Amino acid sequence: MTRKHDRPTIFTGRPAVSNLRKSNSHYWLQTTPAVAFRPDFAYLRVVLPVYFDHNATTPLDPAVKAVMLPYLDEIYGNPSSVHQIGVRARAHLDEQRDRLAHLCGSKPSEIVFTSGGTESNNLAIFGVARTLKAKGRHLITSSIEHHAALHCFQYLAKKEGFAVTYLPVDASGRISPDDLAKAIRPDTILVSLMAANNETGTIQPVAELGALCQEHGVLFHTDAAQWFGKEPFIDIRQFNANLVSICAHKFHGPKGSGALYIQSPLLPDPIIFGGGHENERRAGTENLPAIAGLVEAFTRFIPTPVFDRKQLQPLTERLLNGCLAIPGVHFRGSAAHRLANTISFTVEGCDGISLMAGLDLESICASSGSACSAGSLEPSHVMTAMGVDPRQANALVRFSLGKASTLEEVEHVIARFPEVVMRIRP
Ligand code: PLP
Repeated sequence: MTRKHDRPTIFTGRPAVSNLRKSNSHYWLQTTPAVAFRPDFAYLRVVLPVYFDHNATTPLDPAVKAVMLPYLDEIYGNPSSVHQIGVRARAHLDEQRDRLAHLCGSKPSEIVFTSGGTESNNLAIFGVARTLKAKGRHLITSSIEHHAALHCFQYLAKKEGFAVTYLPVDASGRISPDDLAKAIRPDTILVSLMAANNETGTIQPVAELGALCQEHGVLFHTDAAQWFGKEPFIDIRQFNANLVSICAHKFHGPKGSGALYIQSPLLPDPIIFGGGHENERRAGTENLPAIAGLVEAFTRFIPTPVFDRKQLQPLTERLLNGCLAIPGVHFRGSAAHRLANTISFTVEGCDGISLMAGLDLESICASSGSACSAGSLEPSHVMTAMGVDPRQANALVRFSLGKASTLEEVEHVIARFPEVVMRIRP
């Protein structure tokens, strides 16, 4: 099917340089189809570019988009207005909240709509820390969190007098419940640990970590931005968490849309001030199109995970084995506890930026860490925390596949990747 990315069909093989034009310092394939004979896989059809960066973001699903459109058009009211146009918008907002709460097994009042994963994490971490600071000033997180959590803790330590313990991880990127138990102190007020890591796909024993916090009477937040849509979801309580971050664009919803589950009766201080929206927890006129998109994507893609393990595990295993055949390539992550769509490895004698540029020239979209830091030369903090040598930590490749990924795409990457590496190595 060539429909999936609305891009031209071309055949595998290195595109001729004349097929590339430079624009905004990125190379883009021109739309003229190119045919190349591949002796190993004669005439394999691949739609280029190959998009293996679904942990950065996913395309908006057409059915989700269709649900959003009326909210950009005829349902334009402000849910806070008291006239009929506003009342209609309010009814839609309430309905969306009820739907999400129903799917989560929560109360509607426990859902706060936000602008995405970053804001959900900020609200959970700053909100709880500031609300409970009279009770204690000790916070626990891990050294592999996304910057959307990590930078909150760094700020709280630097500017607001909190003590923060950063839990270590083992070589596969897993947090140990024993380490958490040892780190909890009488003045600990919040533990925040991600459910699955964006760079490695390592899945944390989050229910166990949450249960430990419950035992010790400490609030637990989990950043589940990368987890939803990839692992089986039954009920929001399965995390044993008081707060859970949700991010729509990781599962074919719109960007700039997310939610924070806040277990009642917890009422964290707001981080955005203004009107009394979202039950006094998040000021600002509600973004109904984004909210409708989030709820529709959640309905479609979470109860039955859109990143299907049965489909994606064999693809990522094949891709990993193909890449590991190159000398100096080392798998980074957990073989036993890995999101089925994600594989990460480091490449000796290379650097992340050259690897990304080399892959992009082959029309392969990957990542060398989280998208937010992909342009930076800093070694990945996740790799460093896993004990990887800093030079290696700077040579990370992450492939994250999606629902439309195919074996042909995998074979294309396996065929092109050795040459990319050879061109970079001195
Ligand atoms: N948390 C994790 C684990 C992520 O991977 C991301 C995005 O990459 C975020 C938070 C931030 O989400 P958003 O892009 O919606 O701000």
